[in-house]
Amino acid sequence: MYDYIIIGAGINGCFLAHELSKYDLDVLVLEKGPDVASGATMANSAIIHPGHDPKPGTLKAKLNVRGNELYPSVCKEMDAAFRQTSAFVVATNQEELAVIHTLHEQSQTRNVPSEILDRAQAIYLEPNLSDNVIAALNLPSTGIITPWEVAFNLMEEAILNDVKLYLDTKVLSIIARPKTCYIDAKSGDSRYAYEVITGKGNFIGSNIINAAGVYADEIYSMLNPIDKFTITSRKGEYFILDKLPEPLVSRVIYPIPSSKGKGVLVVPTIHGNTLLGPSSEFIDDKNGDFTDTETLEYVRSQVKKTVKNIPFNKAIKTFAGLRPTGPTGDFIIEESFDFPGFINIGAIQSPGLASAPAICEYVMDTIIEKQVILKEKKTYIKRTKLPILYKMADSEKQKLWKENPSYGKIVCRCEHISEGEIIDSIRRPLGATTLDGVKKRVRPSMGRCQGSFCQPAIIEILASELNISVEEVKLYNEGSNVVIKGESN
Ligand SMILES: Cc1cc2nc3c(=O)[nH]c(=O)nc-3n(C[C@H](O)[C@H](O)[C@H](O)COP(=O)(O)OP(=O)(O)OC[C@H]3O[C@@H](n4cnc5c(N)ncnc54)[C@H](O)[C@@H]3O)c2cc1C
Repeated sequence: MYDYIIIGAGINGCFLAHELSKYDLDVLVLEKGPDVASGATMANSAIIHPGHDPKPGTLKAKLNVRGNELYPSVCKEMDAAFRQTSAFVVATNQEELAVIHTLHEQSQTRNVPSEILDRAQAIYLEPNLSDNVIAALNLPSTGIITPWEVAFNLMEEAILNDVKLYLDTKVLSIIARPKTCYIDAKSGDSRYAYEVITGKGNFIGSNIINAAGVYADEIYSMLNPIDKFTITSRKGEYFILDKLPEPLVSRVIYPIPSSKGKGVLVVPTIHGNTLLGPSSEFIDDKNGDFTDTETLEYVRSQVKKTVKNIPFNKAIKTFAGLRPTGPTGDFIIEESFDFPGFINIGAIQSPGLASAPAICEYVMDTIIEKQVILKEKKTYIKRTKLPILYKMADSEKQKLWKENPSYGKIVCRCEHISEGEIIDSIRRPLGATTLDGVKKRVRPSMGRCQGSFCQPAIIEILASELNISVEEVKLYNEGSNVVIKGESN
């Protein structure tokens, strides 16, 4: 029997798996996607919001502020990029200026650093602000990350410390086994254990963590169809702009928030691209993460209100993500009353990424510490850093090329990714098995040509490393094979 079965390997599942891996516990993670970070964690604005705007008194407000505090050290520890860019919330009329004053006061009560800048001060720092902008709320503690990098690194270290991860393993149903099945180590009481049924076998856990994103409601109602909550998908669509000779903006630019969220943003990314988005639209389809022309037109019209000189002709990709939106607007983080040991981490829409380390801390402190005896492992293995060429000084690169010439063989010319880095991404403990997996881990195909130049070479490397034929190499999931064997005449 597992001590914890975590359902979903998004940022929340990964943080909890990593934290639990520090203790003498048997932990299993079940993920229906072919890789870690397959849901909202893969498709968002990547902002570590400072915590200025969630409603007072909500879990969101508390955990966002704490998450923002924790990220710099978490990223340092996990060797993941974090950049404190700061952000502006911009006002374009007197009504919006009043909102800026309210947000400023709210920030002060939460110890979130903030200051109001007039137009001249704001333009000095961000020359491409639109001509309509009259003032800005400066939020210097805002940061950006690469969300899936944090998730991968956490899960990789969890795996090194004996957490089991089963990918492509969809949870189909959950059965509460009779109350005599599990004897609580702390209280000595007996209670339910839970049998989790998947397409790849059944697993029994004394405790379950439901971190299934937009599907968290369906997972809980498999067990408890009465006391259920509902999650609706709220889609956000984006453009990604190519790297520009001069950055369009150097910090996050928020419009004034509305009932639909933080609005359509302009966001610099860790790797020098610019994100424009997201839109905000409720949809019925929990798999509907595709873009459409009409919504992207809306995104264009909105970003022009806050930033000018946007080179839309430099868009290299569009994408969409689905926010798991709950009934109250707040996060749902609690142990089920009817089914002790079953923890819901649901409705984690924005600022869910920014809050993730604090969500983990909160779950550990308020729920898990009461459920099990936490005994630290005697030995804990830290993941080793792999060479990342773009982060290296020239002298370090020269040394590396001498030791292993494959790091000198550039496969992706847009992002300057070497054969050695691609091989590392496949051989590491949570290794890539698909083109998309390689792309997420070390970035080939993320650039201007979106893989049209380097993809054939990456297919060859994947085939050779995984000892499969090129026809078996997949883009992402089952059936997405890229090379199709032709019929010979
Ligand atoms: C458009 C958009 C913009 C956003 N911008 C920001 C931002 O800038 N800053 C911020 O703080 N937050 C942002 N968010 C919110 C943030 O992305 C989410 O709160 C966060 O990623 C949620 O992580 P999670 O681990 O809870 O869920 P997810 O990342 O969705 O992970 C859930 C996982 O569960 C798996 N799963 C589902 N069902 C099953 C099943 N039956 N069996 C097994 N596995 C299953 C899924 O495949 C998935 O991998 C944004 C979200 C969106 C969509």
